[in-house]
Amino acid sequence: MTRTLFTAAALVAGFLMPGAAQAQPADLVVINAKIATLDAAGTTAQALAVRDGRIVAVGNAAQMRALSGSATRAVDAGGRTVIPGLIDSHMHAVRAALSYSTEVNWIGASTIAEAMARIRTAAANARPGGWLIVAGGWTEQQFAERRRPTMAELQEAAPDHPVYVQLFYEAVVMTPKALEALGVPAGTLPAGMKPSPDGAPGWMTGDIVGISALFDKLPKPTYDDNVAGTRAFFTELNRLGITGLVDPGGFSIAPSQYAALFELWREKALTLRVAYSVFAQKPGAELQEFRDLTQMLPMGFGDDMLKFNGLGERVTLAMYNNNFPDEAVKAKFYELIKWAATKKLAVTIHWQENGSVDHLLGLYEKLNAEVPINGLRWSIAHLDDASPETLARMKALGIGWTMQDAMYFQGDRALAVRGDAARRMPPIGTALRAGVNVGAGTDAHRVASYNPFVALQWMLDGKTVSGKTMRGPDETPTREQALRLYTAGSAWFSFDEGRRGTLEVGKLADFAVLDQDFFTVPLERIGKTTSLMTVVGGRVVYAARPFEAAGTSVAVAP
Ligand SMILES: [Zn+2]
Repeated sequence: MTRTLFTAAALVAGFLMPGAAQAQPADLVVINAKIATLDAAGTTAQALAVRDGRIVAVGNAAQMRALSGSATRAVDAGGRTVIPGLIDSHMHAVRAALSYSTEVNWIGASTIAEAMARIRTAAANARPGGWLIVAGGWTEQQFAERRRPTMAELQEAAPDHPVYVQLFYEAVVMTPKALEALGVPAGTLPAGMKPSPDGAPGWMTGDIVGISALFDKLPKPTYDDNVAGTRAFFTELNRLGITGLVDPGGFSIAPSQYAALFELWREKALTLRVAYSVFAQKPGAELQEFRDLTQMLPMGFGDDMLKFNGLGERVTLAMYNNNFPDEAVKAKFYELIKWAATKKLAVTIHWQENGSVDHLLGLYEKLNAEVPINGLRWSIAHLDDASPETLARMKALGIGWTMQDAMYFQGDRALAVRGDAARRMPPIGTALRAGVNVGAGTDAHRVASYNPFVALQWMLDGKTVSGKTMRGPDETPTREQALRLYTAGSAWFSFDEGRRGTLEVGKLADFAVLDQDFFTVPLERIGKTTSLMTVVGGRVVYAARPFEAAGTSVAVAP
């Protein structure tokens, strides 16, 4: 098929002189763009060229001429902004993907009516009596009504289906049909759950262990659902400019459930790069579990599309978010991390509270004196209230911080509980000044939306989902800094900042052409940004108008 990609491709064709083509012309050139290379100097370029999955030139359209041949595909970006592909440094994406094709999501729904409309649509498309599951990723603060939906609303939207709705790891509502389907006797609650303190019919509360156990009783998607869901979810992330993930495992996902991911990798059908860690599954026997698993899975094993990235975010259940670990718990944890350090495994750990993080950092400091961990890219996830002292200790140990937009959803509560102290949550500015390696991300999809532009807007305006201003200017990055955290900053956590995260010669060709200029669009509109064309390793993995043709194998006529 020979046709030009875009009207402006005639311009490109004008300088694609076959006679002048080099022995190895570029596979793809992008011209007429505003390319935020995010190189050290912060250079903006107009054009780039890609060959064999890597960037071979960055500059202006004229410079791409010598690199273009008859088979080179040219994309005229129409003056649009191009950014390095975004990388979420802490997203439970492998798990989210498994059920993406079978769950209902409320991400971005701004009213209860809109949320109920999604339930209604899902009910219309579901098998008779099929479950409708909202597994998180929303908060009542996102709804204009500022409340949770009622059981009556859910039953009205889906009278013939069992409905399960989870709010973070705090609350669940199940319709009578859902309770009945799980065999919960009338008038009782599922194990581990308590009635909602506000007495709202059908709503109940529990903790992460209880709610995860309840969730695990729900019918599971089939393997084909897993594969379809993974494809669809990764494409959805590509639509938002994401080209890479660091995935920390999670509750409710066992090693056997990585099969869909591995299948897509084997078929070369992954549309984004995944670095995954293993989440301890065997409470009390974690060291043996990790020893067994990693005998055939050395640190970094895999390739640029999929690789093994060490342990976490649950390292031992006993230390998981434990603000009061006793000496026995700490000794057992120490034995495990010492083994991990000798094996040069990366370790990422979930820790919420600065008030208790000394338990963890004390062990890391002791270990570092015995077996150096600086250089192993260990990291702490969350820690939204990290103090300057904590960040300095992390910096000294070479421990990175994966920072998420938890306060977008949870900020109203943090403000109510902590008052002014919440204005430094999370301390992005302090971390940057301390020189800590910071990766951006979301922690999606149970506790947050996966939308990176919503997170970027929140990084910049510090506002919660309900519109309250929370984070102060001291802790607010610039647009360029925020973008660096979402690209090279996140790439650091899988040892990849030298390979991707910036648009420079020799780097992997991962980038997104945006529908609006991230750098100049009014702050309050950043969250609405989408990608019009997303490229991973030189391959167009997502394309929307006016770039749909770029997704097909179209050659520019010489
Ligand atoms: Zn976590």
